[in-house]
Amino acid sequence: MRVLVVEDEATLRDTLRTRLADAGFTVDVARDGNEGLFAGQEYPLDVAIIDLGLPILSGLEVIRRLRAAHKTFPILILTARDNWQDKVEGLQAGADDYVAKPFHFEEVLARLQALLRRAGGWATPQLKCGPIVLDTRAQTIQVQGAPVELTTFEYRILEHLMLRAGDVISKTELTERLYDQDFERDSNVIEVLVGRLRRKLDPQDQLHPIETLRGRGYRFALPRDDASS
Ligand code: CA
Repeated sequence: MRVLVVEDEATLRDTLRTRLADAGFTVDVARDGNEGLFAGQEYPLDVAIIDLGLPILSGLEVIRRLRAAHKTFPILILTARDNWQDKVEGLQAGADDYVAKPFHFEEVLARLQALLRRAGGWATPQLKCGPIVLDTRAQTIQVQGAPVELTTFEYRILEHLMLRAGDVISKTELTERLYDQDFERDSNVIEVLVGRLRRKLDPQDQLHPIETLRGRGYRFALPRDDASS
């Protein structure tokens, strides 16, 4: 999952960058409203964290312009504590949720994960598709009740596919959302990782959880158990 952090306080920005990367996100950062608007318009993002008090262009203005440009990814705003007007204005501008400063990183992470789940049409942190269950909080996988060990990148691919179970996800999208810009982008790597994922999830070749659509990408093919989907 690729997240944009727009925050002018260097310490906070660096903390968020480090901790989000540790939590498995690909992280882009911007230091002011202009940079944030550019990144929000140009990068293939899954979610954004936007501080409201930003130089050059306010966070509210960034959100308004992104929404006016039909950018629909979820946005979490950072607000000053005890400023309810900020929260209301932020939500009215098109943000989806807020966290008041100072915050515990765990709260930001939980809210981001919830926004991503809801954007994918899931109501709960457990993504269940038939015999395959992915827990987005613990980052664990079970197949037919037995734990399956995945590498970080295998997990990220599976999470991306299962969050959007039923949708076709192109190789380009997977590559862009899973790797930093400076990482070598090679779609063969994705093919190899998906091949390994298939063998780990489905060693008997019976479930066929991940479908390949020639020239279009991949689709997580097992139906969702989630009643809300
Ligand atoms: Ca600020």
